[in-house]
Amino acid sequence: MSIDINPLAVAERNACPAEFSFGEVFADHMFTQTYDLQQKWSNAEVKPYQMLQLNPSASVLHYGQEIFEGLKAYRTKEGEINLFRPRENFKRFNRSAARMVMPEVDVEFHLEALMELLKIDNKWVPEKDGTSLYIRPTMIATGAKLGLGASDQYLHFIITGPAGAYFKDGFAPVSVYVADKYRRAVVGGVGEAKTGGNYSASLYMSEDVAAKGYSQVLWLDAIHGKYIEEVGAMNICFVYGDHIVTPKLSGSILPGITRDSILQLAPTLGYTVAEEQLDIEEILADIKSGKITEAFGCGTAAVISPVGKLCWKDVDYEINGNKAGEVSRNLYDELTGIQYGLREDKFGWIE
Ligand code: PMP
Repeated sequence: MSIDINPLAVAERNACPAEFSFGEVFADHMFTQTYDLQQKWSNAEVKPYQMLQLNPSASVLHYGQEIFEGLKAYRTKEGEINLFRPRENFKRFNRSAARMVMPEVDVEFHLEALMELLKIDNKWVPEKDGTSLYIRPTMIATGAKLGLGASDQYLHFIITGPAGAYFKDGFAPVSVYVADKYRRAVVGGVGEAKTGGNYSASLYMSEDVAAKGYSQVLWLDAIHGKYIEEVGAMNICFVYGDHIVTPKLSGSILPGITRDSILQLAPTLGYTVAEEQLDIEEILADIKSGKITEAFGCGTAAVISPVGKLCWKDVDYEINGNKAGEVSRNLYDELTGIQYGLREDKFGWIE
């Protein structure tokens, strides 16, 4: 299928403003295509960023049949634009689609659509150190019917917007509150799909912990309320000297692409890695005894985010004196180095 470039998309092209807030300023253009049972995917187009027209009975508005992705484009010193493992995001998009009974999008076509959009909006990939262009591919169920069932019409779109440097005040650790009462996802549910309901379900708890002064929630498994799963929009790793452990994928954890990259990259830097079932009580005991030397969250937004303390049942457990550690720093430098084209791309991750 060919991608139509709307004439307005070429005529009106602004540059990225110098000042912006993440997720509130969007680039000038968007990619859209529509799906129905007869034509499958059609009407692929890059056009000016604009409001959507939706039937108020569209399934997405009532039953939340929707999925999304999050990845970034990075500006290199030479002025080129790097994408980091975009096919992994598009494969995960399709796994989420399958779980939510939505049509898949061909991975190569999805990449081509993004490339066409970035050609038009290339000036929106910011240049300042640590900045990037955040990319949000989304699919929503647009079929106009209130009967509960999978929709037969969908809209797939890609929007983008500039993201500032995550660590403006240095590589500062975050404080994390362990959820004791609420649960995010359950095995057999949709926790491993990137679908809106997982995020709206987490808001109550994240608002609550923000009021207590913590910036993230650490979720535990829903069946035992005992095994560590993930942070709001990051996976989590604990460091024992040169050994890095992260919860094994349980079916209710989002399989992060940063997590996977760390599992591949860390052994080349002299660290050992393991994916295990991690009991919160054992982890807290290892923090207390000093066996755990660092902890960090990992995800597209911050890449690596050191964790300075965990709060469990109103008791704080400080990690590494609430300071960022060397392993977190090394992984951050190495991964961002690859993303910005400053380090050798040993794994062929850059597109
Ligand atoms: N867990 C959740 C719930 C997330 O939303 C994200 C962000 N996509 C992650 C983990 C990290 O995934 P990634 O490294 O692919 O950004």
